[in-house]
Parts: sequence; C-alpha cells; structure tokens
Amino acid sequence: MEHYDFQAIEANWQKAWSDSGAFRVTEDSVKPKFYCLEMYPYPSGRIHMGHVRNYTIGDVISRFKVMKGFNVLHPIGWDALGMPAENAAIKRGVHPRTWTLENVGHMKTQLQQLGISYDWSREVNTCLPEYYKWNQWIFLKMFEKGLAFRKESWVNWCPQCQTVLANEQVVAEGCWRCETKVVQKKMEQWFLKITDYAEELLTGHALLAKWPEHVLLMQKNWIGKSFGSLISFPLAWDQSRGIDVFTTRIDTIYGATFLVLSAEHPMTADLVARSLRREELQAWVSRVIAQSRFKRDEAPVEKEGIDTGAKVVNPFTGREIPVWLANYVLMDYGTGAIMAVPAHDQRDHEFALKYGLDIKTVILPGKDQEDAAEPGQVFEDWGVLTDSGEFSGLGSAEAIERMNRHAEAKGFGRQNVIYRLRDWGISRQRYWGTPIPIIYCDACGTVGVPYRDLPVELPFDVPLTGEEGSPLEKVQAFVKVRCPKCGGPARRETDTMDTFVDSSWYFFRYTSPERTDLPFAPEAGRYWMPVDLYIGGVEHAILHLIYSRFFTKFLRDLGLTSADEPFPHYLAQGMVTKDGSAMSKSRGNVVDPDEIVQTYGADALRLFILFASPPEKEFAWTRDGVEGGHRFLNRIWGLFQENLDLFDRKTAPAPLDAAAAGRFPLARKVHQTIRKVSDDIGVRFHLNTAISSIMELTNQIRKDRDALRGDDAGRAVLRLSIETLVLLLGPFAPHLGEELWSRMGRPGLLFRAAWPVFDPDLARDETMTIVVQVNGKLRDKFEAAPDLSEEALASAALALDRIRELLGGRAPRKVIAVKNKLVNFVI
Ligand SMILES: [Zn+2]
Ligand SMILES: [Zn+2]
Repeated sequence: MEHYDFQAIEANWQKAWSDSGAFRVTEDSVKPKFYCLEMYPYPSGRIHMGHVRNYTIGDVISRFKVMKGFNVLHPIGWDALGMPAENAAIKRGVHPRTWTLENVGHMKTQLQQLGISYDWSREVNTCLPEYYKWNQWIFLKMFEKGLAFRKESWVNWCPQCQTVLANEQVVAEGCWRCETKVVQKKMEQWFLKITDYAEELLTGHALLAKWPEHVLLMQKNWIGKSFGSLISFPLAWDQSRGIDVFTTRIDTIYGATFLVLSAEHPMTADLVARSLRREELQAWVSRVIAQSRFKRDEAPVEKEGIDTGAKVVNPFTGREIPVWLANYVLMDYGTGAIMAVPAHDQRDHEFALKYGLDIKTVILPGKDQEDAAEPGQVFEDWGVLTDSGEFSGLGSAEAIERMNRHAEAKGFGRQNVIYRLRDWGISRQRYWGTPIPIIYCDACGTVGVPYRDLPVELPFDVPLTGEEGSPLEKVQAFVKVRCPKCGGPARRETDTMDTFVDSSWYFFRYTSPERTDLPFAPEAGRYWMPVDLYIGGVEHAILHLIYSRFFTKFLRDLGLTSADEPFPHYLAQGMVTKDGSAMSKSRGNVVDPDEIVQTYGADALRLFILFASPPEKEFAWTRDGVEGGHRFLNRIWGLFQENLDLFDRKTAPAPLDAAAAGRFPLARKVHQTIRKVSDDIGVRFHLNTAISSIMELTNQIRKDRDALRGDDAGRAVLRLSIETLVLLLGPFAPHLGEELWSRMGRPGLLFRAAWPVFDPDLARDETMTIVVQVNGKLRDKFEAAPDLSEEALASAALALDRIRELLGGRAPRKVIAVKNKLVNFVI
C-alpha cells in the first residue's frame, strides 16, 4: 500500500492553490459575503503556536463558509512598525526596514506551509508608505475636526539617554537600557480625542451581543462612566476663583473636611508659589511626580500628602477647609481634585487618621441598614443625612437630587457625567513609526501637511542610537521644510505615531488595498464590512478593540463607511500552554511549529491544535497529541487505499437512494455526522467536537467496512461515507482532503466543493416512542433512546406533567414497563 507522504502532498497542494489563485476573492453580489479575520501578527521573525492556533481557527471557518456557498474574504497582513525593529537596529546595526521585511518573508512562508487560505493579493504591510500614508490621511481628517490636538502631558524620561520611554521600557523605575532612574517630564504630545466617542463606545455595546461578556465588562470599566456632580470650592483668598471637584456623593459634602489636589493639578504650582514652605512643597511635588504614573495607579501605595497651607470654602457649609496634596489623587481621573470625606470614604479616612484631619459623620445607616455599619469600618453606603443643614433627615438618593438643584441654583455646581477614558496619546519619540504629518511655522503656527504631499515618508538614513531624543530630530533634511501656507522656513513634527493607530483600521484596507486615492474604496468597504468574525487573543480586549471601534465610528462620520461597529462578532481565542504554563521564550517551553510541520505535517498540527479544546479555552500542547493527529490522518489514508475500487469507474457501485440507504446504520451515521459537524463549525465554533464526530464516523466506517463490502448496496454506502468523510475533513486537514478528493476523481478543488447536505430523516437521532398508560388507558407518550432500561423508562414516565397530575402525589400500586414500548401505572 502506498504510504502517506504528507510532505509531498502538502507541498503539492500549496503550490496548486497558489498557482490557481484559489484564495483570491472579489466582490460578488450573487453570493452572501463572509469576512473572516484573525488579528494580524507583528513580524517578529517566527510564527509561534499561538499564531498557529489563531490562524487555523479562522482558516477552518473560512474554508467551511466557502464550501457553504459564501464569498469569503480571508486576508492577512503585518503590524510591522514599532519598537522591536528599532531595538534590533540599535543592538545589531541592521536597518529596521531590512529586519522587518526579512521577517515578513520568513513568516509568510511559514503561513503558506500551514495551508492557511489567505488571499495574499490583499496583504498589507503597515511599514510601507502606501499603507502609513493613510494613517496620516486619517490623522489630518481628525486634525481638521479638532480630534487630533496637542497638549502638554507627562512622559517617562531617561536623563541619561535623553529620551522618552514607553511604560514598557521602564523596568523597576529605571531605564531599560541604562538603568538610570526614570523621571517624569512635561512635554507637548499629540492626542486623539477618543473621549468624544466615549458615550457611543458604551452604547455601541448593544450591537456586540456576540462578544464575550467579560470583554464587554473590561471595556465598560475602561470607559468608566459615572454620574455625579461637579462642584466648585472657592479659594478662601479670592472667592472669584475656585477648584472644581467631581463627586458621585454630593450627599456627603457636609462631611468634606479637606480638599486634595493631585501633584500634577494646574493649581498645584500656584499654591506652591504662594506658600511660605515653597521649597519643601516643591520637593514633595517633584518626588511624587517622579513616582511613575502607572505605578501610583496600582493599589497598595502608601498614602502620603502634604498641607499646602491654603484654604478653600466648602460651598455648602460656608466653612474654610485646608487644601492638601496627596499621591492617591490622580490627574488622570475626574478633575484631579477631590473633596475628602473621611467619615464616608476608606481612603480619605486612612489619610485623615495619618495626618490628624477632621472626621465628621454626615450619613447614618438607614433603619434596615443597621448591620451595614460595622464598628471600626467606614460607612460608605447610601443612608440618611445628619448634621447636613437643611438636608438632614433626607435619604441619600433624594439628597443627591436636591443638593444638585441647590448647587445649580447657587451657581457653584451642577450634575455631571464623567468618563474614566482619557484621550489617546499617540506621540512617540521613535523612528520606526508613522511620521505625524504636521509642520510648525513661526508665522502660521501648526499646519497640517497638504494631502497632496502625503505620504510624509520616513527617511531611510537615520542614526539609531537609542539616545538623545527622537531620531528624526537629527535628520535635517527631514526637519527643515517650507511652510505649505506661507512658503517660509518651517520645521516638521518629528514624533511618530503609536502603532495602535495602524491596527485601528487595517481591516478596512484589506477590502481594497490597491486603492490610491482613499484609505479604502467605499463601495468595497460597503460590500465587505463589518468583519463577520474577528478572532484573536483577549489581551487586546481594551486598547486595540476600543481604538478600532473609535476609528470605525470616525470613518463612518466621514461618510466612508456605514458600519457602526467593525467586529459584531469577536471570538477571543485561549492561550497555548505547555507543562502547565503559557508557552514563552522566558520559560523555555516553546515548541517550534516548523519542526512539527516537518515531522508530522501541517494537517496533523492543525488537527491537533483544534482538537484538544474549544477555541476560547486554554489549549495544552503535548507531543502525544500531535502524534495522535498524525495517526488519525494515517488511518484515513489507509481506509481510502483499501477501498480504491469504490472510486474506480469500472468497479464503482451504483449510487443508492435515500430510502435504500436508510436501512444501513452507517448511512444514518453519515447524515448525523454532517448535521453535527455543520452545527459545531457554523453555529458554535466548537471545532474540537466537530473533529471528534469526524473521528467517530471514521471508526464506524472501519468497523462496518468488511460487512458492507459484501454487496453492491453496502459498497455504495461505504463509498458515500468515505466521500463525506473527505468533505468534512476538508477544512481541518485541507492538504490530505484535496489529495483524496482528486484521487476520487472528483473535478475541481475540494476547497470549492459544496459542503455535504444531510437528509433530515436520515440524520434524525434514532429514538423510540414510549406510550404511557394509567390503568391500561393511553395517557401520554415520550421519546427515549433505544433499549433504555425498565427502571429508566418508569422514572421518565413518572416525570411527565400529565402523569404526575393523574397520580396526584400517590405512589402507583404497580408499575409495568416494557423496553422500547410502554409504561403502565396501576393505581
Ligand atoms: Zn537610559
Ligand atoms: Zn507659514
């Protein structure tokens, strides 16, 4: 018997698919469209098992949809800008472009060797000017609409390297390169005003019913909408000015005994300047700002503060209260200032105890809440107001409403909604990113690069040392430019964009990557968008998936698309683990897909990686598993070889009609398996149970084969079952599938063959109708699996509503049960 030469088979079919352009698609108004997308990879150089899993899931679903008659768009590209390329350049002197394109070439080969059905004619690569030109175009559109703007903000700064560091580049408060202690520095940065879309990003969740619940919750928390009040506390020495605080608990305001500002608050500098202890305060402020911001955000930081000596007036009590600075108040949230209510807020309470500040109870537990106030615990719940002037005695809910009205009437406050979501800082002082298309002119100010001058290309020859500021700053030919407005000397912006900009709209580009006058063709976008299924790791739940939603809404507002949401269906695939932990270089438990493909074949790898667990769950890698996959494919190969005569025109059996086939249990099994596998792939994405059903069918065929080979009808059933097996296997093990399909003498590619249709009669699970009698009279009936025991039948019958009613709680005197037939209760 010919052996299963998977290496030759796989290479052969990859070539055949590629030569025939099998995976190319164009818009087709006759077929329904299906846009299947996996998150595109960073071209680090090698495909890892997480990629294999991600892309194989998408590939099976894409191939299935093609066979089901859909026009399927299944593209891939490269998230090719970003720091690793630049770091490689600094370390090894290779140009980021060279490094990136080499990696892309290698990974592309790897993907092709996995047999993934990508339409390579649509490949996008974000480091090429023809792609990032459109980042610049979108940025300019945002700039025109006031959604891209510059403001001062705090950045991590390495004084040694003279450069801005991303949060990930700060290791133990030091610079990742030179370990110098990182300081915070205020710099002008570009921001995108995602906050303008905060509300729509929340309400849009209504369109995302097919997203995992926990991802929606993470986004909801990230956006962080709260209802509350904005209250101004007038300065004691100049009541025409005030400090705004946001509070969700205006009902506690009579208990606000001090006010706290963040170190970065704009008023802080004023208060420091006014203070007699100016130097001490300044030192404190500098130190706290230097505690990197992301560290202060994490929970257990020792609360510390300092009295500014300044006072503000509590507008409700009319009393002066001190203004403190504290490290637990962040400029990032609300107004960067809070009213501290130590009796009713745990953090304020700890702070007041530490510094001996007044604690004043203004909320008492309501009647039914007595247990809520445990001794020694701060009462943070809603309750009944006390010691709160005219509002005493009111419940919190009513008090909030009345106090908001009062504040509004008096002109020092109003009801307000705030979001935790901040505007998106996109400036990076790095080389390997999209140049921000802005020109600064002394006469004209900040000027957008005219659209006709796009792209602003990255200069190729740039000194990459990782030191002393932005690399582009040092390239005079890049920096020096004529002002597009007045023609005078001007200078270019040298910051580049966060790479998350690239991935916020790449899925649009796939719909028409050849388009040269717009980011994508509106008509192609209309046809393909939204993405019908988006597959990728849950680590992108927040940033990438929120930014993409924001960009889609912006492109919609530009009139380029009608899609409100880019990904109505998001499948978060689980991690790949080995020996109990995530596969990672640092743990040394990485399995190289290339080696597995060499040893067992891509089909075996695909089969195993999908078989071991449902896509959204963790997947544990084992060598035995992939060997098992390989053995299974070998069995199918063998089965086919032993039954070659069924597919030879001279010896093939005549086909059987459904009625005749129905007499064979194997024929019924075939139809049941089609139903099950179609449902598992198409509805539930339970690719693992689909594979088990295919395995069960294979076992059944092997079991029944000898008996069936005896006559022509049996041989026809055997032929039908093997043919179906190959069709069902197609999306999972496409190379072997194509090989067998072609050896069966079937025309065309299996890739384009029609998915098998099940006969509902034959696919029905076999059940027996059991009649239920009471005193010999027919009262009810139910369906049961064949050969259920008498006891099981009796208890099933007892559970029927109708019978329970008739028995009225009495135990029957006698129970007669007959297998596969009836149950009779005698009462
Ligand atoms: Zn450094
Ligand atoms: Zn000018």
